[in-house]
Parts: sequence; structure tokens; C-alpha cells
Amino acid sequence: MTDTARHRLRHALVRANRQIRHGRELLPESTNLLVRSYPTWVGETMRPVKMYQIWFRTRGCTFDRAGQCSMCNYGVGPEIDPDVIADAVAARLALIPKRSFVYLSPSGSFFDDREVPPVLRERLLASLAERAPEHFAFETRPETCAPEMLGQVRRALPETELICQIGVESWDEQIRTLCHLKPTPQESLHRALAELGRHDYRTIANLTLGGLGLSHREAYRDALSGVAGSRAAGFTTQMVFPLSAKAGTLLGWVHAQGMWEPPSLWMLIRLLVEDARRNGGPDDRFDLHISWFNPSIGDVVQARPGCCDICRPLVVEALATIQSTPDRRVLDDLLRYDRCACPQLAEQKLAHDDGRTYLDRLTEVMERWEASRPGELHLLPS
Ligand code: SF4
Ligand SMILES: [Zn+2]
Repeated sequence: MTDTARHRLRHALVRANRQIRHGRELLPESTNLLVRSYPTWVGETMRPVKMYQIWFRTRGCTFDRAGQCSMCNYGVGPEIDPDVIADAVAARLALIPKRSFVYLSPSGSFFDDREVPPVLRERLLASLAERAPEHFAFETRPETCAPEMLGQVRRALPETELICQIGVESWDEQIRTLCHLKPTPQESLHRALAELGRHDYRTIANLTLGGLGLSHREAYRDALSGVAGSRAAGFTTQMVFPLSAKAGTLLGWVHAQGMWEPPSLWMLIRLLVEDARRNGGPDDRFDLHISWFNPSIGDVVQARPGCCDICRPLVVEALATIQSTPDRRVLDDLLRYDRCACPQLAEQKLAHDDGRTYLDRLTEVMERWEASRPGELHLLPS
């Protein structure tokens, strides 16, 4: 495919994504924050810790408004009053034990002034400083990792281990741009990594399993090489997210059209096994994090990473164990499992392809979308 054809394809998919996201309901003004806690591990010793994640309401991700990314619906809201949100987060933070692991999450990028106004960020950091967290994590686009932002957080939390999570999605720039619709160039990832390193941040590369247009075989290979590529580039940690079909996204629409299926959880297990084989430590530990493998089906998540009802409880429990303790023996137990056909079905999908590539499938998606919306193609400005 020529560069021009690829450009046209991406443009059409972004426009479709923007039209689809237009139908989303705004987050209610009554919900200022949500708190969850997750088990995870930290540091060279892989010490298990509990992470408190506080999501706070914003107007939504700026990049999402622009039709990026094909799989994401992290919510979109009305304009916020920064003081209302800052007060709500401060009150909730006050209930979290000092020296904890805190994750503060807007609906996109912590360093994006259009989403998190500077006055709000300043107040959030002041409230955080009062809790003196041992670890503070947040997510932001690499394009927003400016030295002054990184310095501001470092000055507010001088004793805290700072962890910046970056949505790499794929280490293949073309897959990132065309399948995920995220136009972050490789250079931007390298620049952000260098800047984060200079300010003594740890980094997490978020990588997806199962992007729009990818066959399961392509998706598996892409995730495996994404883990290897981001590790080699210097990200401290790799975290794999098997994708779900979410309402209000192009990926969700494509799933409803029968053109995309979430990956099998057995693919995720196979990925963990393969990476542990390549990079496992001498003590049965391995160093690959996983997330969002078992979201609840609801208004947003319409289909999630799969397996049958027979193996699901066991698989989910094992993956949850791995989330808090990366023990290779849990994976070995899973490899011996044979009470249903799911592991073999996943293997078969990984072994065969249909002779097409993701470019063929994305073109089909574009054609299906355009055929479904005659006369509506130019409703939104390009
Ligand atoms: S993946 Fe990140 S950048 Fe993309 S729309 Fe979602 S929150 Fe925004
Ligand atoms: Zn099964």
C-alpha cells in the first residue's frame, strides 16, 4: 500500500472513530472520582504492594476528542471546576495511609493542560505531598512529557518513587498509527524516555494485545515484539492490556459488525509463558505485568478477553495471582490444564492466518463504515 493510500485509510478511520464517539453520554457531574485498589509488585525485589488508584473526572482525553485511539473510551465529561475536583481528591487522599502507592488518573493525560488545568495539577500535587506516598504513578502521552512538568512533580514529591505510564500500544509505529489510530512517532517515545530518565522517573510501557484489524496471530506477535522492543529501549516495566470491545469506539463498532473478536485469555497466558522463557529470572520470577484482563461487562465494555465458562474461573484466578506475584509456577500449572478446548483453540488461531494482513482488514472496515453511512461522511470537520 502506498503512503498516500495509508494516509487516506487512517484519515477515514479517524473520522469514523470521531463520529462513533460523538454518541457517548457525558460523565455525570455528581461523579467526581472513583477509587479502586489493585495488587501489584514493585522494585527489583518484586515486593507485593497494594496500589490505590483514584480516577478523577475531567472533560476527557484531548486525543480521544481528535478521534484517537480506536480502542479507548475512558469517558468524556462536561467542563470541570478545578476546585471541586481538587477538593474531592484531597478528601479521598486523606483517607489513604501515608507512604502508600498512589495512582492518580484523569481520563487521559496527567500532563495535558487542556485536560488537567495547571491549577488543578498544582492542588493535586500539594494534596499528594501531604500523604508522602512511597510510589506515585500516573499516565500521560509522551508528547506531554515536558521538562518543566517532570520537574514540577519531582519538586512536589522529592522522596517519592515516580512512575510514568505511557500508552505505547505497539512498538511498530505503523500498527500504532493505523490499527490503534495513535500517531505517536517512535522518536516521541524515545524523547520522553530520555527526559523521564533525566528526572529519575521509572517508566511503564502500556502494550495492547488484540488491536483493530490485527488477526490473533498478528496481535500476538505484535505484543511479544512490543514487550521486547520497549524493554530494549529502556522502559522500566512492560504492562500488557488484552483489549475489550468498548461502546463508543471504532473497535466496539467493528466488533458489533462481526469483524473483530477480543483475544483469548489463553493467548495472554501463552504470551506470559513465552516472555518468561525468554526473560525469566533464576528464581521462577518473571517481569511482565498484565492489566484489564477481566473487566466487567456493562454499558462500556461489551465484550472482553475470552475463554469458556469452564476454564474462566481458574484462568482469572491464576492471572489475578500473577498480577500480585509473578511466579512462573502458576503459569506451569496453567500449561497442564486440559478440561476444555480453549487452550487448543487459542493455539490454532495463533498457528494459522487467513492470508490477509491488517491493511486488508482495515480497508474492509473503512469500506463497511462508508457503506453504512451514505451521505454522512463529511459531518465532522477533518
Ligand atoms: S488511549 Fe490514552 S491517549 Fe488514547 S484516547 Fe485513551 S486516554 Fe486518550
Ligand atoms: Zn475454556
